[in-house]
Amino acid sequence: MGYLARNLEKRFDPALLVPGAESVLCFLAPYGQAAGGVAGFAQGADYHRIVKDRLFAVIRDLKAQFPAFEGRPFVDSAPVLERFWAVEAGLGFIGQNNFFISPEYGLRTIIGVIVCNIPADRFPPHAPLATTECGACGACLRACPSGALRAPFDLDARRCISYLTIESHDPLPDDLTSSVSRRGWRFGCEECMRACPWDKPLTPLPEFETHRRELETMSDADWASLTEEEFEKRFADSGLRRAGLQHLTGK
Ligand code: SF4
Ligand code: SF4
Repeated sequence: MGYLARNLEKRFDPALLVPGAESVLCFLAPYGQAAGGVAGFAQGADYHRIVKDRLFAVIRDLKAQFPAFEGRPFVDSAPVLERFWAVEAGLGFIGQNNFFISPEYGLRTIIGVIVCNIPADRFPPHAPLATTECGACGACLRACPSGALRAPFDLDARRCISYLTIESHDPLPDDLTSSVSRRGWRFGCEECMRACPWDKPLTPLPEFETHRRELETMSDADWASLTEEEFEKRFADSGLRRAGLQHLTGK
């Protein structure tokens, strides 16, 4: 996860990334529940594409109303600290499980931002939050099956099932390879999210749901018999391709 340490100046100063930047607009895109061992945010098309398309639509609308408006969208794909900006915008706070938590919408949102050329004081401020901390109940730490969440805000990514099944292409540690120790997770993990009292069901954007039916019904045997060609065809638009079929089937 070395990328987190790179481009630190740009992460905190978007003007270094987008010349003329004056403010950062923050949006929360709702997704649904996990199914078939696949995290809720991956039940449809790749979330980067979904949220970016929505942000481009917002930019088009704003440009139509305000021709001087210039903005550039970011979704977890450039050196922009989306969670930092969402907290700065007053939309929520960071929980002890490291998720961004909106008191209004819970944890099941992808943050998208638009870095734009309009000063922040031209936008009405968000209403102050009634709560600015998660409550520290400790349920997320107790729920983590792999010991990755070692202490409040302290995540050991090397043991996080979500990181290991999505980002890392290294072999899983021996003690996490069985379906028991992974709690059946194939892509992602939501144990520390589900345990959180702030988690709440949302009506997901339809684009987040396009593969749900097939993921819900795919058995281990279906996954094992899937060829690379079939996988590429069926999941061409999906974020599951980041992990690849071999990793998804635990090979
Ligand atoms: S995503 Fe899963 S493995 Fe990672 S910290 Fe949360 S509960 Fe633990
Ligand atoms: S489970 Fe409890 S301690 Fe963990 S983030 Fe949620 S409220 Fe905070």
